[in-house]
Amino acid sequence: MKKGIAASKGYAIGKVFLKEDKEIKITDKKVENVQEEQARFKKALDASESQLKKIKEKAQREVGADKAAVFDSHIMLLGDPEFAGTVENEIENNSINAEKALSDVVKTYAATFAAMEDEYLRERGADIKDVGHRILANLTGNISSLDDVDKDTVIVANDLTPSDTAQLDKNKVIAFLTNIGGRTSHSAIMSRTLEIPAVVGMKDITSCVKNGDTIIVDGIEGTAIVNPDESTIVEYEKKKEKYEEEKEQLKKLINVETVTKDGKRVLVAGNIGKPQDVDQVVANGGDAIGLFRTEFLYMDRDDMPSEEEQFESYKTVLQKMEGKPVVIRTLDIGGDKKLSYLPLPEEMNPFLGYRAIRLCLDRPDIFKVQLRALLRASIYGNLKIMFPMISSLEEFLQAKDVINECKTELKKEGKEYSDDIETGIMVEIPAAAVNSEELAKHVDFFSIGTNDLIQYTLAADRMNEKVSYLYNPLHPAVLGLIKLTIASAHKAGKWCGMCGEMAGDEKAIPILVEYGLDEFSMSASSMLKAKQLIMQK
Ligand code: PEP
Ligand code: MG
Repeated sequence: MKKGIAASKGYAIGKVFLKEDKEIKITDKKVENVQEEQARFKKALDASESQLKKIKEKAQREVGADKAAVFDSHIMLLGDPEFAGTVENEIENNSINAEKALSDVVKTYAATFAAMEDEYLRERGADIKDVGHRILANLTGNISSLDDVDKDTVIVANDLTPSDTAQLDKNKVIAFLTNIGGRTSHSAIMSRTLEIPAVVGMKDITSCVKNGDTIIVDGIEGTAIVNPDESTIVEYEKKKEKYEEEKEQLKKLINVETVTKDGKRVLVAGNIGKPQDVDQVVANGGDAIGLFRTEFLYMDRDDMPSEEEQFESYKTVLQKMEGKPVVIRTLDIGGDKKLSYLPLPEEMNPFLGYRAIRLCLDRPDIFKVQLRALLRASIYGNLKIMFPMISSLEEFLQAKDVINECKTELKKEGKEYSDDIETGIMVEIPAAAVNSEELAKHVDFFSIGTNDLIQYTLAADRMNEKVSYLYNPLHPAVLGLIKLTIASAHKAGKWCGMCGEMAGDEKAIPILVEYGLDEFSMSASSMLKAKQLIMQK
């Protein structure tokens, strides 16, 4: 069994088609007739353009206009006079062949993208390489196609480019596996849109299989089994059948309002880490964003995101949700989440240390940048601000003071913000749950963070597999705190959500409905199943 990153859910059992990346050898040649070489390049450009236009039309039909839009940028690059001009100049100035000139220019372009801070833009470096590879293939007569594969094919490749994935025929290709890539790589995004199971980042899967091997793909666990025995095949056939039946059934729920058997309307919401994640929440009929973990905006970079950058991200999320509630949590850094550019003192117990709201209240220079961005974005939708790791009323009141300071500043600067922003807290420290009756009088809402609440209540580190047997969401002490928190909110006329993993836990859902939880927030792919369970209760 081989393991990788689960990119798209589902099961598949099929035959391997190994997509070998034909390394096109680039010969470095001096040419005498420069015009002839430039004309060869131009011909390859034109051929690439007409191929891509066809691929784009196919993608539009199969995955929709927004996903097919990726090819617009490819087609645009082909028509970009600067790009073509740079290659033509290279040919002329150095009297070199088109292949060498093209590969040099593509390398420079790709390196520029690779150095960009934004993860999305960095990934676009792959687009440039993809286009470059196509032109090169046309120059050298090496155009390959994934069009003519057999039925029940599992594509195994080092990586799949956007044009590869767009060519996949869903009636024949039932899954794919790649050596490289992460959840935000294009191939992963496409696999989810095409709704075919996929596992990416498998490191060396291409060297573990050969054409025609039987292979099982488990897009839920992120695994693949090469040449399984008969009983394993039977086992996975059953899993597949069950999964698909259920998925079909669940789709009917996308536009259904979630109402419990007792007639109570509850919200099924999504947890996100990046603005792009909203799309999946919307596609699964999400009623709200219940948790935006904003610390992800601060990670994988070399400096703090500016007010402007944050404003754009929050605005995007609010606009995409079109007036539905969006709970944005302020920076929850520290504990297991570190920033390379913000050195923090080594601590004996980081999870009990200088983190989240504690750090933010101590560093108004950091906190205020985020709050100003949030306030400015608030006019674009239904924003609710949530503070993490609150253990006492004082912390909440102090945090609200900082919001008020920011409002005063913005007003002076003539910048707009909404007057109607709810502020609430994560209930993830047992003290907050025990004291929830008092807290509920001051906040607009609670969201129970069970990931931390469980670890603090049971003194069982959420990251340590040695004590994971103690980490039990259904422990009576945990359930008691949850029940109390929900009841306290309701007593004060406030609403209570849950954004820890427990909100999507199939065993816990009926109990949470019983307790009167108002909003269940979880990863987009768990939402429909949760909806079904909530409605059964
Ligand atoms: C939680 O603690 O339950 C939670 C949702 O926050 P995080 O997992 O980001 O700590
Ligand atoms: Mg937490």
